[in-house]
Amino acid sequence: MKLLSGKTALVTGASRGIGRGIAIKLAQQGANVIFTYSASAQKAEELATLLQQEGVKALAVKSDAADYNAAEALIATILAEFTTIDIVINNAGITRDNLLMRMTEAHFDEVIATNLKSVFNITKAVQKQLLKQRSGSIINISSVVGVKGNAGQANYAASKAGIIGFTKSVALELGSRNIRCNAIAPGFIETEMTDALNPETVKQWREAIPLKRGGTADDVANLCVFLASDWSTYITGQVINVDGGMLT
Ligand code: NAP
Repeated sequence: MKLLSGKTALVTGASRGIGRGIAIKLAQQGANVIFTYSASAQKAEELATLLQQEGVKALAVKSDAADYNAAEALIATILAEFTTIDIVINNAGITRDNLLMRMTEAHFDEVIATNLKSVFNITKAVQKQLLKQRSGSIINISSVVGVKGNAGQANYAASKAGIIGFTKSVALELGSRNIRCNAIAPGFIETEMTDALNPETVKQWREAIPLKRGGTADDVANLCVFLASDWSTYITGQVINVDGGMLT
């Protein structure tokens, strides 16, 4: 018996990187997966086909995570096809790195809207259904940078710290209805997002990590499976680092 058989999951931003890895692991564990993307239509369709090969239902939806009305439409689309939404993984995110001196207002607003407001948009839109079900696991992808801060990432760190406050508040508010909400704080996970970094910086990061390597999408996805499953039914309001010991 697979861990997530019969459950339905929503993953935002899964056409690439960590989200893609999460979608694959969820499908391998028997969950039906609806996932979103913003631009990578071909990659998204290829992923939907791959997920279906696991014998589950899979649907790719182009939906801007920063758009409140789009989140409502997305949840309505899912409920037209599925009777429950059991797992919600808020993963979509962007970086617009710069020193504060050079950071534009537009880049600050864009990062907050895509990374933080998106979590509000989806959680707000799905809340009614989760309350009706009296069950649900919400998993928000934060970052170690949201815990520690990072020079050159004031906008990104603020968005990821905001996710932690939001996660804990939702856990307190909805716990009595058996709705759990946890955050994952990945460290340095090697994806297209980190490919944009200076190779010398990447080398230094790897050397500074106790486990001496960057993480993989699978490292984060494995924790998502656990938090989504009935193996974690007494865990809520937590921020769990997946960082190879980076913050230890
Ligand atoms: P990535 O490789 O750049 O992938 C980002 C994904 O988000 C893509 O599928 C992208 O879709 C989607 N996306 C971007 N903007 C969107 C929007 N407005 N609406 C819907 N989808 C959108 O990033 P990643 O490294 O996998 O990161 C995934 C999450 O983990 C992010 O929240 C990130 O902050 C967090 N994280 C990453 C690391 C790391 O080291 N990589 C560390 C800590 C936390 P398109 O392909 O259509 O653009």
